[in-house]
Amino acid sequence: MHNKYDVVIIGSGLGGLVCGYILSKNGYKVAVFEQGSQPGGCLQTFTRKGVKFETGVHYIGSMNEGQTLHLFFKYLSLFQNIKLYPLDPEGFDIISYNNEQYKYATGYENFIETLSQKFPSEYNNIKLYTRKIREIVLSSPFHSINNSDESFQFNSNYATTKVSDFVAQITSDKILQNVLVGLVPLYSGIKEKTPLYVHAFIKDSNISGAYRIMGGSDKIANSLVNSIRSFGGEIFLSSKVREIVCNSVEAKCIVLENGTHVEANYFISNTHPEITVNMIDSHLIRPIFRNRIYQMEQTVAYFTVYLKFKENKVPYMNHNFYHYSGDEVWNCENYTTDDWPRGYLYMHLCPEQFSRYAQTGEIITIMNFEEVAQWAGTKVEQRGEAYKEFKKRRAEKLLLQIEAQFPGTLAQVEDYYTSTPLTYLNYTGTIKGSAYGVLRNVNTPRIVHRTRIPNLFFTGQNTNSHGIMGVIIGSVITCSELIGREFLWEQIKNCRL
Ligand SMILES: Cc1cc2nc3c(=O)[nH]c(=O)nc-3n(C[C@H](O)[C@H](O)[C@H](O)COP(=O)(O)OP(=O)(O)OC[C@H]3O[C@@H](n4cnc5c(N)ncnc54)[C@H](O)[C@@H]3O)c2cc1C
Repeated sequence: MHNKYDVVIIGSGLGGLVCGYILSKNGYKVAVFEQGSQPGGCLQTFTRKGVKFETGVHYIGSMNEGQTLHLFFKYLSLFQNIKLYPLDPEGFDIISYNNEQYKYATGYENFIETLSQKFPSEYNNIKLYTRKIREIVLSSPFHSINNSDESFQFNSNYATTKVSDFVAQITSDKILQNVLVGLVPLYSGIKEKTPLYVHAFIKDSNISGAYRIMGGSDKIANSLVNSIRSFGGEIFLSSKVREIVCNSVEAKCIVLENGTHVEANYFISNTHPEITVNMIDSHLIRPIFRNRIYQMEQTVAYFTVYLKFKENKVPYMNHNFYHYSGDEVWNCENYTTDDWPRGYLYMHLCPEQFSRYAQTGEIITIMNFEEVAQWAGTKVEQRGEAYKEFKKRRAEKLLLQIEAQFPGTLAQVEDYYTSTPLTYLNYTGTIKGSAYGVLRNVNTPRIVHRTRIPNLFFTGQNTNSHGIMGVIIGSVITCSELIGREFLWEQIKNCRL
């Protein structure tokens, strides 16, 4: 380890690694410091009895040749190391709601035709919905690579309009309104708060071309780590940053938990903004900014059951299954112990070699942090019997829900494992184990990549948007500060050639 770098990056989540890639590729001497023993943050996977489970990425969109995320993956040299498997184009997502199943099909025309079969009189409204979604995406130069030479300004109407109001303007059919926003867990939607753009970017990306990453999204992290090293950058695992030291005008160095000081000209924090400001004891962070960060709400947290199936027993399901038991897809976070879970996402993961049968499945549902708060401060695998019993009870409840929708599945489960909000708190450092960090709220300004300290920037899901696409775009915006937006954008667009 050197004691001075051009850029120090705190955290090796996707945001930290993409910044590391861009800057080291462009000649900056970069060092990434990660508190965990694995790189990747939410890209981490874990293996039990020979099978791998995802912890934070289950499918990605706009991955057809020429589409946005495909271009970014090309730029990041990811295709050398990962293989994708397309989800069913006739229904990559199924929304199970109101005792019916509704399919989202790939491609806008297909999407409109498929959904209209369930809502024949709503054909024009569904078309209008897709046109508006497309309009929003086209207004963002980063999401629609084509108009990138025009204004880089974000249309603030999309940040102040609620997605729930937007769909209510599109159609008076309440069921269709719910079906259109039915990916709530994917964007942590809150009816009274979630801005339209959050929904639009994710929905557009998935309709454009939804894929599973074969063999695990840790391959993305490992590929980026290898590239950064090949460009001369350095990654330090098990290296928690505890302090960012500033002089009277800017940040000067970080201090690791073991006391090591590392200086740099620039600092990029991929950690949650609350964690970042807690590392800084300087007048440069004004109390008003600090308080704003402390008062920000977090996205919901999840409880996940990871299923290991018996060999060659459960046919691979090539779509995601979103189920809601209430009369709305919203409000799954406002549950009682009796009506939990009010909704869940169930899917099968795609192993290295696609086969007819699934090896693993995952069921993800909301769990409020307060439910596990009593065990906060305990260590992984040492949280005690009551915690284990709590998880078992919840897992069994969730498994019964799967059995009701997919009869016979339980008998084919060889083993299962669970994670709670505490697991995420532990492995990614996110506040209260929240899945996607800071909640995007129509009433609250967004966290931007610039901070009050001129040479300290944020990156990752708490700025810009969450998800693979949102985080990569956010990293491009952060790195633009150092190397220039037009220059970087040209470099990325040149990958199309
Ligand atoms: C359950 C779940 C399912 C998801 N499914 C999808 C999906 O299907 N598709 C999709 O596109 N997206 C999905 N996402 C979202 C996506 O995974 C995230 O938005 C993205 O990976 C976040 O990346 P990040 O870099 O912002 O943060 P993180 O991945 O949280 O990384 C932050 C890193 O900072 C490190 N860190 C924290 N504090 C310190 C410190 N003091 N010192 C050093 N290091 C520190 C952490 O250990 C961590 O590695 C999902 C997320 C979750 C939780």
